[in-house]
Amino acid sequence: MTANTTASTAAPSAPAPRILIVYTGGTIGMTEDLATGALVPFSFDHLMKNVPKIGRLGYELDHVELDPPIDSSNMSPAVWAQVAKMIADAYDDFDGFVVLHGTDTMAYTASALSFMLPNVAKPVILTGSQLPIGEIREDGTENLITALQIAAARTADGAPMVQEVAISFGRHLWRGNRSTKVSSTNFGAFRSFNYPPLANMDLHIDFHERLLLRPAPGKAFAPAYAMEGAVAVAFLYPGVTEAVLRPQLEAPGVKGLVLRTFGAGNAPTEQWFTDLVAETVKAGKVVVNVTQCPAGGVEEKRYATGDALARAGVVSGLDLTCEAALAKLMHLFGRGLPAAEVSAAMRTPLAGEMTVL
Ligand code: ASP
Repeated sequence: MTANTTASTAAPSAPAPRILIVYTGGTIGMTEDLATGALVPFSFDHLMKNVPKIGRLGYELDHVELDPPIDSSNMSPAVWAQVAKMIADAYDDFDGFVVLHGTDTMAYTASALSFMLPNVAKPVILTGSQLPIGEIREDGTENLITALQIAAARTADGAPMVQEVAISFGRHLWRGNRSTKVSSTNFGAFRSFNYPPLANMDLHIDFHERLLLRPAPGKAFAPAYAMEGAVAVAFLYPGVTEAVLRPQLEAPGVKGLVLRTFGAGNAPTEQWFTDLVAETVKAGKVVVNVTQCPAGGVEEKRYATGDALARAGVVSGLDLTCEAALAKLMHLFGRGLPAAEVSAAMRTPLAGEMTVL
């Protein structure tokens, strides 16, 4: 028995896998605007016409789409809710879901969907591409076909191989809420620095089964669409001033804040800064400490500069990505929880997004 399992789609006698494609836009379906030469989102039909071999998979495919499709720079919590609802409404009728999405904010959407679709027991696979399908040289065709195969893959027992929100891109399948876009040019556009790939896609699709998330036993799939938009991100840098930071932390209406800190979760110990953070927490806002380092996480007690934040009431984001921290805050406040409960829930993994030792 090896730890890895090569993808097996349904046996020839089994019914064809039913996969719903959710087309939101992104480069994968773009074409050039003849007037400006810039890439703009285009129709799902155009995309499908350029991948005739998709029929050879033998799957039952259907699709839903955003109207109009968007560049993912225009993604928002309201559109996440639309996408989550498209999946939830079709949940019982399909074996898996492939979400076609622009790469720019795919990691945010994957994080958001992982919290909006709690206890999902079917694959929700996001993919896109760096070059549009239809160009002579492109990565979209392979990414789309591979995502469909991953959505159709089954375990030896016939259960869905992937039962979580994941990003399939280039040669890797990543947990969605652990992922970050790392390159605007490389065909391997995503990485998850704090969790290994869920699968490697080379000659075979090799799943690392022990790394895959499974829904908590006895817990039902229970979509939650509300996301609180009054959540922000503040970024520290050497020389940051009170004049720059105070308006961000005191922004009216903001309920939660991701504070991007240095290294193991460290921040300046100047009095104005410590006071400002303590005042923000006292004002009832949830401040979450997330490191600017792509890999590793917050260890507040390691340095006095991090400990000061903990003492001011800042919540450790451990090894959360910024994308996941932001989406998790939006989700928890969206559930209507008071600040104290949000703070407590930020420390507990909801969908495999953080490592609690
Ligand atoms: N701007 C595009 C988007 O995020 C980039 C891409 O899809 O790669 O929609």
